[in-house]
Amino acid sequence: MRFATKALRVGQELDPQYRAVIPPLYQSATFGWEDLDHIPKFDYTRCGNPNRNTLEEVIAALENGKHCVAFASGMAAIVASFSLLQAGDHMLIASDIYGGTFRIGEKFLPRQGIQVGEFDAHHPETITAAVQPNTKLLIFETPTNPNLRVSDISAVVKVAKQHGLIVIFDNTFASPVLQNPLDLGVDIVVHSTTKYISGHSDVIGGAVITNNDEYYTTVYEWNKAVGAAPSPFDCWLSLRGVKTISCRMDVHCKNAQAVAEFLESHPRVSKVHYPGLPNHPDHAVAKRQMKAFGGMLAYEVDGTVAQARKACESTQVLLLAESLGGVESLIAYPPLMSHATMTEEQRVAKGIPPTLLRLSIGIEDAQDLIEDLDNSLKIAFA
Ligand SMILES: *Cc1c(COP(=O)(O)O)cnc(C)c1O
Repeated sequence: MRFATKALRVGQELDPQYRAVIPPLYQSATFGWEDLDHIPKFDYTRCGNPNRNTLEEVIAALENGKHCVAFASGMAAIVASFSLLQAGDHMLIASDIYGGTFRIGEKFLPRQGIQVGEFDAHHPETITAAVQPNTKLLIFETPTNPNLRVSDISAVVKVAKQHGLIVIFDNTFASPVLQNPLDLGVDIVVHSTTKYISGHSDVIGGAVITNNDEYYTTVYEWNKAVGAAPSPFDCWLSLRGVKTISCRMDVHCKNAQAVAEFLESHPRVSKVHYPGLPNHPDHAVAKRQMKAFGGMLAYEVDGTVAQARKACESTQVLLLAESLGGVESLIAYPPLMSHATMTEEQRVAKGIPPTLLRLSIGIEDAQDLIEDLDNSLKIAFA
């Protein structure tokens, strides 16, 4: 089966009782045993549930992976992948990683005796400089938030493997439609399924995907032990969402390209960050590595901070909200949202000036998005 078909058919046989086309919702905490000689496939929903099982099969198939464990959130999935570490180990986090992952590395892992260092995924040689005798794994992601920088996944894997590191990759921003990091030698892929996989901004979820039996067993047992399992209904919703991921991503990418080109030509915009633009610093690697350039972009308003904030507050079609990957377009202000815990200095050092706005482009008519953004800039500069 090919990608779009897998999203619809993997693990989704007709329901054996009534031949329902859609898997029924098994909203049950526990399952009956026939007798004590036969352990049922599902016994307790923290450990497993038919809806979760179906979702895991589909996500594994979409990432070309052997195993998937679904979680109650993307962060729960990411933390679960760190269960491969123990006190005394060292790990490396890409310097432009998702803020939540950074927070775990900064605040919580050191308390558990795990040391955390940084590296720059755009310069894989920085791994060699940062590696220590006890370094066990690294985690990175591309495209990054909010500047949409794209690093070369294979190049990072190559250097990491020279040092025997486990490579974890957060594929949330690209989605499995645009790139499959396991095929490039990554050991573990994590997702916030809240975003493109579920696609409708109505559920929080996460997933860990791997071909490695040992990593799978540890991550599965962690989930069971700490109770980070998603609810049956959340799995049911995510399964419903993921069915359309292929055609949704097509429209996200086309719309984002159109919006990026419009913003690039706008006199009130000084810079557009979108890997689909030929002048983006990573356009070449993105073109080689990704099937298309994604639905996320950022732009810098060529004016004062007050004007940038006004533009951000003045859209009608685009909604002012955090998150991404849903069918509706969102506009976000990183200094008060995704990057609020950083100081202004830290943000500017990371290329996030206070005039930068981030967009998650949905599947509306692109012309409505363009007119809305044009109008918001008119209001801001009136
Ligand atoms: C949203 C997000 C997460 C966290 O996922 P939750 O589902 O909110 O816990 C992790 N990584 C990336 C890249 C994200 O965008």
